[in-house]
Amino acid sequence: MATDHVDVLIVGAGLSGVGAACRLSRDCPEKTYAVLESRDAIGGTWDLFRYPGVRSDSDMFTLGYSFEPWTDPKAIADGDSIRDYVRRTADEYGVTGHIRFRHRVLRADWDGERARWTVHAHRDDTGETVTLTCSFLFTCTGYYRYDAGYAPQFPGTDRFAGRIVHPQHWPADLDHTGRRVVVIGSGATAVTLVPALAERAAHVTMLQRSPTYVLALPSRDVLADALRRWLPAKAAYPVVRWKNVLLATANFQLSRRAPALVRKLLLRAVRGRLPAGYDVDRHFSPRYDPWDQRLCVVPDGDLFTALARGRASVVTDTIDTFTERGVRLSSGEELAADVVVTATGLNLLALGGMTLSVDGAEVELPRTVAYKGMMLSGVPNFAMTIGYTNASWTLKSDLVATYVCRLLHHLDRTGQQVVTPLPPPDGELVPIIDLAAGYVLRSIDVLPRQGARAPWRLHQNYPRDALLMRHGRLTDPGVRFSRAGTPERRTVRA
Ligand SMILES: Cc1cc2nc3c(=O)[nH]c(=O)nc-3n(C[C@H](O)[C@H](O)[C@H](O)COP(=O)(O)OP(=O)(O)OC[C@H]3O[C@@H](n4cnc5c(N)ncnc54)[C@H](O)[C@@H]3O)c2cc1C
Repeated sequence: MATDHVDVLIVGAGLSGVGAACRLSRDCPEKTYAVLESRDAIGGTWDLFRYPGVRSDSDMFTLGYSFEPWTDPKAIADGDSIRDYVRRTADEYGVTGHIRFRHRVLRADWDGERARWTVHAHRDDTGETVTLTCSFLFTCTGYYRYDAGYAPQFPGTDRFAGRIVHPQHWPADLDHTGRRVVVIGSGATAVTLVPALAERAAHVTMLQRSPTYVLALPSRDVLADALRRWLPAKAAYPVVRWKNVLLATANFQLSRRAPALVRKLLLRAVRGRLPAGYDVDRHFSPRYDPWDQRLCVVPDGDLFTALARGRASVVTDTIDTFTERGVRLSSGEELAADVVVTATGLNLLALGGMTLSVDGAEVELPRTVAYKGMMLSGVPNFAMTIGYTNASWTLKSDLVATYVCRLLHHLDRTGQQVVTPLPPPDGELVPIIDLAAGYVLRSIDVLPRQGARAPWRLHQNYPRDALLMRHGRLTDPGVRFSRAGTPERRTVRA
């Protein structure tokens, strides 16, 4: 094992890592590859999160892989079905046998003389450190810490007699039947949990500091249902996928250009689903514009149904303190609770906590500039996957994997071994994740930035990005191709 070398080393066996491996085996069958995964399972997010009701909030025709049709009748799918889909795809494409589980990658060192990375991983099962080398390093490590979700410290939690749980580590023994549950949060996890818990709980209260835009969408896709009756899955899938891509792109663009109109439409739709007199302005009217933060989707309006039936309620207030019996709010009101769920978010983590060095110099991520949203200035033969935040993650992860395959072919064709992005010569740098969400803002200082213009910046617009990444030029002023042993110029901006 200590002398193992592969052409491409993928880190992470979640949706992106499995997708990257499938893409590699399809587009570059001559390349050797391995996948290092720190957990003992395939699926990443879709294996880790086990809270009641866990599901996608994107449609699966775009969250699924372009090359593997999503055939389940549900367009917005539960976590188990997504996990099965990722595993099945890994089996079908022969990826599973390439995965080395319980290998946590700690660091990777680039040696320009030999044009290869030396990658060090810790085996959680045996305690050994494993070393591999690779010509190209491809990280698909997701964007958050797996060991701990974000849990702000609330005063008085030690005297609370009930149970406090975080959705990232849902206790298998927790029975909420007939219990009073308070869910703290207003994001995708909270709006998923509330209707799911409300099916069996005595009552569920969603306690939010401020509202989020919530959009009800059908859990089934009418066009997909119709097409599947007439066409084979492989023919129906791209049609539905492109329909959804175009709708989502139009929705995002309209939100950016006419935020007041989109806001009005979103709030009108919420009003239509709630009883007359419901205080929509207080509980569902955010202070920001649509898509400044990710919109929350609720399938068939399940959240609104739970609210309308009185099985759940929303309280918009801040926490003063936990008490023995529940949570006291700044308004003085006390919410009685047997279980409190802190759906307060994630802790962002870049590159799965790995450190990188290039020819002996440590790579400081905040000083690098992302190139096409997938490579880093001054870091040779390296790509990372950060999916879209305004559309399905996989749309971008698949473009990144496609581009990596094109780069590998280009290197082989031109007899070169090394591809290194350069920083933009001047000009403005912007955050790599264009969202004002709490988990992004908390970590913005430790992430790379990106240039304000192409080729450094991606458009966050799938049709445009697809054209660029699948058919655009590989050689542009933002990247240098070279042979092994060519010294790296200073490529990190001061
Ligand atoms: C609850 C939840 C719901 C979501 N729903 C949606 C949705 O509906 N639509 C959408 O577009 N996005 C959604 N997302 C974002 C989601 O994370 C992505 O859709 C997608 O699953 C990310 O896949 P990934 O493979 O890139 O990352 P992950 O799923 O996070 O997988 C990363 C893998 O890398 C491994 N890894 C990490 N670091 C290391 C290391 N140092 N060494 C070895 N292995 C490592 C991890 O163990 C994991 O298996 C959701 C996120 C969450 C948390």
